Amino acid sequence: MPNTDPNCLFCKIVRKEIPADEVLRDEHVVAFRDLNPQAPTHVLVIPTEHAAHLSDFAQSANDAGAARLLSAAAEIGRRFGRDGYRVVMNEGPDGGQTVHHLHAHVLAGRHMTWPPG
Ligand code: AMP
Ligand code: ZN
Repeated sequence: MPNTDPNCLFCKIVRKEIPADEVLRDEHVVAFRDLNPQAPTHVLVIPTEHAAHLSDFAQSANDAGAARLLSAAAEIGRRFGRDGYRVVMNEGPDGGQTVHHLHAHVLAGRHMTWPPG
């Protein structure tokens, strides 16, 4: 079992203590649909190991875990995207992070604009 935080919302999804609409799960990552979707497909990809922030993850993750986060995001983007998709990580207060377990948002199924808000 990976290193999880008993009080973390997304660790509870990893441990299946709260339900999630999962689209992918393996040793390194869990991916599930966002409760408040911002695109026709909005999936969150999280590492199974708890890391609150990207900098923590960069230090604690092994190469296989770090690579898998990216390859899973790409897999989901290809599966649900039409002609592309967007992958976003919100980091810290200025980045708009609300859940302190690292996650990549995969947004697909509509044309995205730039810059984001
Ligand atoms: P962020 O603002 O980048 O930290 O993103 C957190 C995301 O988690 C938001 O888009 C929320 O809608 C989503 N979220 C919060 N709780 C849940 C949950 N239980 N299941 C699925 N998505 C969730
Ligand atoms: Zn966690």
